[in-house]
Amino acid sequence: MRTICPVCNGLYKVDYNCINCNATMVDNGPVVNYMDDYSPYLLDDITHLVDGARRDECVHLYRCPICNEEQLHSIERKRI
Ligand SMILES: [Zn+2]
Ligand SMILES: [Zn+2]
Repeated sequence: MRTICPVCNGLYKVDYNCINCNATMVDNGPVVNYMDDYSPYLLDDITHLVDGARRDECVHLYRCPICNEEQLHSIERKRI
């Protein structure tokens, strides 16, 4: 069984509004991608602790284009 993130795979977009100025925030991609360099050296459990993400969620970094507010949002992975 494989799970994919629908946002990463372009199935649909999820929009969030900035808590400061209510502008539509821009998806800056999944946070786990930034960790790829480190992942091979860590056990799964440790990786879990480090990125704080559950295996069935993809954590995306959203940034407000107006005030640069950054927020992390968990996207639920879909089974394919
Ligand atoms: Zn994703
Ligand atoms: Zn903002």
